[in-house]
Order: sequence, then structure tokens, then C-alpha cells
Amino acid sequence: MGTANYDLVVVGGGAAGLNAAFSCRERFPEKRVLLVDRESEIGYYRTLLPMFMAGNLTEDKLFFWKPGDDENLDTRLGVQVRTLDRTAKSLTLDSGETIGYARLILACGGHPVVPPVFERAVTPEGVFPVRGLSVAREIKDWLPDHRDIVVLGGGLVGSKTSVFLRLAGFGVTLVEKESHILPTVLSADTARPLQRHLENMGVQVKTSTTIDQFKADGNGAVTSVRLATGEWLPCGTFLVGIGSAPDLGFLQGAGLVEDGELIVSPTLQTVDPEIFGVGDAIYIRVAGGDKHNPWTWPQAVNQGKLAGANAFVTSPVPLKRTTRVNAQNIAGVPIMILGGPGVGSSVEARPGPGDGVWREFFMHDGRIVGGALVGDIAGAGPLHFTMAGGEDVSEVADDLLVPRTRAFGASAWSSLGQARRATIIPAKGNDGC
Ligand SMILES: Cc1cc2nc3c(=O)[nH]c(=O)nc-3n(C[C@H](O)[C@H](O)[C@H](O)COP(=O)(O)OP(=O)(O)OC[C@H]3O[C@@H](n4cnc5c(N)ncnc54)[C@H](O)[C@@H]3O)c2cc1C
Repeated sequence: MGTANYDLVVVGGGAAGLNAAFSCRERFPEKRVLLVDRESEIGYYRTLLPMFMAGNLTEDKLFFWKPGDDENLDTRLGVQVRTLDRTAKSLTLDSGETIGYARLILACGGHPVVPPVFERAVTPEGVFPVRGLSVAREIKDWLPDHRDIVVLGGGLVGSKTSVFLRLAGFGVTLVEKESHILPTVLSADTARPLQRHLENMGVQVKTSTTIDQFKADGNGAVTSVRLATGEWLPCGTFLVGIGSAPDLGFLQGAGLVEDGELIVSPTLQTVDPEIFGVGDAIYIRVAGGDKHNPWTWPQAVNQGKLAGANAFVTSPVPLKRTTRVNAQNIAGVPIMILGGPGVGSSVEARPGPGDGVWREFFMHDGRIVGGALVGDIAGAGPLHFTMAGGEDVSEVADDLLVPRTRAFGASAWSSLGQARRATIIPAKGNDGC
């Protein structure tokens, strides 16, 4: 097989990779762009998979883009990139094809983490990771005959999945090893009303524990799982949502990975300035050495757009912010996540007014470094600008926690002024989550 040459090759057609390809095509229409993905279908909202599995959303509603929507964007789907040769500036695919590139964007996302209990034994039928569309289809077909569901992982993926399946009438137990759900983005106090809300809906929530054994029937299908506390739970479907880890095996020997991590600069360039990295696959190292990546859909979209625009310019632009407000609605409770707690941060929280309303900031040296609004999300944008401005707000932090406050920092007012003056560019329909 010969070599096909492209100006830009993007590895991964998720939120980050597709947006990188779109933005490069828009900015540099003369460039030849190829997108490679091992999934045979791309252009769908991963974030909506829990609704789809629960039968609340038809499959056509999952897609925001299909190959052929842009005839100048070439794709190779259902094929995996096996190796990268930086000297030859080429990739080899498992189809045997070699692809040459002038610029490369690595947007290869993450691979679901497998719980240790299934590493020691043959995985029974009825156990699925919640990550991609093909497995989500299998789950959807499996569920009607296996209605006792255990979801492992109380993060965003596990909590959303539990809620949608419970709303669809399934029996759901959510198991989280930390003391509360959403442990990477909420403090225990703020997570509590949300957890109560899930329990009121009929989701059984088991915290501070995990699964350490399972039983299967004669056909090899899971029938029950045991908590580390010794309690057995009936289980016909076991869904794993304990996170994902970047799958960087194909970069072995390419000199881009440091201690198992693909690290990029704020301009999203790796140590090789012609190779960029975006989305769940990377960490961004900022001045001072801290590494960031919130691994969310809005960040993946943002980073993809920037990398595509940076690919062929002589002075690449740095990412403005490594955080972005992330809106959620968990069974009627609106949540806005500003960012998780940083190392050494303290919590300032305030309940109400009203039931189920909680706001919190993670503070470091008087600055807001993260936080969340639960139940009432008014003012999330200006609060995010205040956080991004890095101002010392220790004197007004308590006022900022009140819904409909006007006590925002100076950087918020200046950013709001700019935002009002800026031209609003219509989204391609894939900014949501
Ligand atoms: C069920 C679920 C619900 C979620 N809900 C939310 C939410 O509500 N809000 C939110 O902000 N975030 C949510 N997330 C997280 C969000 O979806 C991810 O942060 C985002 O999709 C990451 O995009 P990405 O493009 O970096 O990676 P991915 O979407 O994982 O895309 C990477 C692509 O690269 C391909 N690939 C990898 N390696 C190779 C290779 N060697 N060769 C070829 N192709 C390769 C993969 O097949 C994949 O299609 C959710 C995630 C899941 C799984």
C-alpha cells in the first residue's frame, strides 16, 4: 500500500478532533485534512449516550455531523493508528496504509478504566463500559431483560447514567468509592443535596465502597455483585463509569509522552511544535509547572478549535483559559461547575436561599480556583470570569456566593463588556453537553 500525504492529519474524531478539523478547514480552506478514527461512526454527542441507552433519545438525535457533510474533509473510519514516525512525519494504520503529514493533531481521547475485579477473571456478559456508541447500542438492547442495574462510579458519567436509567423505570444502584458522589468537582456538603435528590428518585447510592466480587449464571451472564462491605446486590447489568485513561500506546518511542502523559503547552503544542494535542488525551502545562485538563466536552471543543486554528500559523495563540463553565442538569437540578478543587484549596460554601440551593468556591490565596453552583446557577458566567481573572476576592467571597449577586470582580465586568461588544459566532451545534 502506498503513502497518502496530507497537510493536516487529526487522530480521533471526538469533540476535540472534529472541532480541530472543522476549524482548520475554515481557517485554511486550501489545506488537505484527514481525520482518522478507530470507531466506524463519529460526529455524535458522547454526553447524550446515557439518555440514548435509557431510551429517552432516538439515535438520529445523537449526531451533529456525518462524513460527507464536508466533502473536503477526508476520513478513514474503523481503522486504528498503530505507530507514529516523527522523522518520516508519517503514521501507519492497522489497515497497512501509511499517511504522511505536515501537521498532526492528537485527539485520541481516553479508554475506559476497567475495575480490578474484572482484571482477575473472565468478564461476564452484562458488564459494559459507558463510553462509546457501539457499546451503548449493546447496552440498550441488553437492558430490557436485565433490569437490576449496578453503576460503578459516582462521577458525572455514572451519576447521569443512573439518573436516566432510573427515570426510565430500571432498578439502579450507584456505587462510589469516595464518601460522596461527584467527588472530583463537588465538596461533600454540596454533593449531599444532590445525592438526596437521586435517592428520592429511587437510586440507591452506596458510597465509600466498591465491588470486590461477582457471580455469573450458567450462560456466563452476571447475576450479582458484592460490595467491599460484604453486601451482595442483584445485578443483571453492570455499567462501568470510573473514568478513562488516555490510550497512548501508538506513540511509544515517538518521544512525546512523559511519565505516561501527553503534555502540551498552552498553545496546545507538544515538544514537537508541528504536533498538537487536545481533549481528554492531554494535560496542559501552564507557567509555574501546574498541569491542567478538566476532561470535559466544552474544553475538548475549545481546545480542538484552537489547535485547528494554530496548526499553520507562525505565532500560535495560547489557550485563554484551562477552565470553562460546564452546565449540567441532573434530573431537574441545574448545576454549573466552575472547576474542581486544586491542590491545597479550601472550601467556602453557602446554602440557599431555598431548599436544594448550594454554592461553593474552592479558594487558594484569596483567589477562586474552582467551585460549583447547585440548584440556582444565576451569575455563573461572571463568576467564571472573576475566577479566571485571578483576583484576590477574599473580602467579598461570601457575597459572591449569594445568587444574583453583583459583587463580581473587576475582570468579570471588563470581560462582560468585551463579550457584549464581540460578534457572536453561531455554534455549529456541537457546543452543548
Ligand atoms: C457517557 C458520557 C457522558 C459524558 N457526559 C459529559 C457531560 O455531561 N459534560 C461534559 O462536559 N463531559 C461529559 N463527558 C466527557 C466528554 O464526553 C469528554 O470529555 C469528551 O468527549 C472528550 O472528547 P475527546 O475528543 O478528547 O475524546 P473522545 O470523545 O474520547 O474521542 C477520541 C477519539 O479518538 C479515537 N482514537 C483513540 N485512539 C485512536 C487510535 N490509535 N487510532 C484511531 N482513533 C483513535 C477514539 O475512537 C475516539 O473516537 C461524558 C463522557 C461520557 C463517556
